[in-house]
Amino acid sequence: MKANACQGLCRLNIKHYCHAGWKEIVHRTLLSILFVGTVLVSGCRVPVEMPTPAPGIEPIPATEPTPQPHGTLKVHYMDIDTADATLLQGPDFTILIDAGLPDRDEVVPYLKATGVESIDLLIGTHPHDDHIGQFPQVLHAFPVSEVWMSRGITAAQTVQRAIRTFPRVMETDWCVDTTRAFRQTIDAVAASGAAYNEPRAGEVYTLGSARIEVVHPERLTGNLNDDSLSVRITFGAVVFLFTGDAGIDAEHSMIARRHDLRAHILQLGHHGSRGASSQEFLEAVQPEVAIYSAGEVNWLTRFFREVFSSSKPHPEMLNRLAAMDISVYGTNVHGTIVVITDGVTYEVVSEHDTLPVTHDTVEHELESVVVGG
Ligand SMILES: [Zn+2]
Repeated sequence: MKANACQGLCRLNIKHYCHAGWKEIVHRTLLSILFVGTVLVSGCRVPVEMPTPAPGIEPIPATEPTPQPHGTLKVHYMDIDTADATLLQGPDFTILIDAGLPDRDEVVPYLKATGVESIDLLIGTHPHDDHIGQFPQVLHAFPVSEVWMSRGITAAQTVQRAIRTFPRVMETDWCVDTTRAFRQTIDAVAASGAAYNEPRAGEVYTLGSARIEVVHPERLTGNLNDDSLSVRITFGAVVFLFTGDAGIDAEHSMIARRHDLRAHILQLGHHGSRGASSQEFLEAVQPEVAIYSAGEVNWLTRFFREVFSSSKPHPEMLNRLAAMDISVYGTNVHGTIVVITDGVTYEVVSEHDTLPVTHDTVEHELESVVVGG
């Protein structure tokens, strides 16, 4: 009963109001109020059990040095609308961080086209549909050794998100069906037989020649964005930082815990919105290159986003990056963006640019890292 209520909420389509008579509008409005009230009062939860963490990759002491890389790492920031999917294709590891929106199918074909045959580590930064949407497809298409996620989600959180993201109402994919995407993801993880883990800030892992430091969260707050599983990945001397949709509060937590956050390439949090990438955080990360994933939007969505100051990317954030002389790439402008590195130098190549931007040497070499403290 409760599960049906949760599913039904996501199927309310406000666009139909435009074509309805007043009786229909009153009817739908009353139903909506009754429905939201029922869900909130009952506090219904997603009817899925989280897998019990059973990690396959064991953490290592933080003082252990970064492995020597032999070969090339390509990091693909896929152009898949305002959603994340980032493939790290290394000489001895394959990691996928997030996998786009549900009811679409860009991620598996892209992975196949780049020669991926299996995935060592699949990371879901947080259980929103624009991050785990195509996890079931990925888990069906490839052998996946291990899955990392931040944790679960309640239906009440889904409702809160639907209300917060009301400006998306005019987008075709406005329906915030996180609950369904999450349930399908958990089912697919269980069916895949992959190892499962929910790592926490301060843990360090190696996977082939990649060093993975978990910099967030230390503990969950209940805010799905701010609880985004955030990782700093080092390949030789080149460092990448991924923070999902973590906002400014989460960034402050990372700084307060005194993690070494420095990275040459930063994926901007929350698709480049003004709710992330604070001045303090950018100063802590000191990136040379910033990359965000965002899609083209129609004029009405743009209008709503401007009214609610929720543009992605937000001009305020772009100005901040320009003032700090940080090179910025966005999937809405450059298409898919690929960073290619041998662990010493790196090059940024993008789908819509004729001239790649080459960084002959990393401008600041980073020391091996000790997290926590
Ligand atoms: Zn997102």
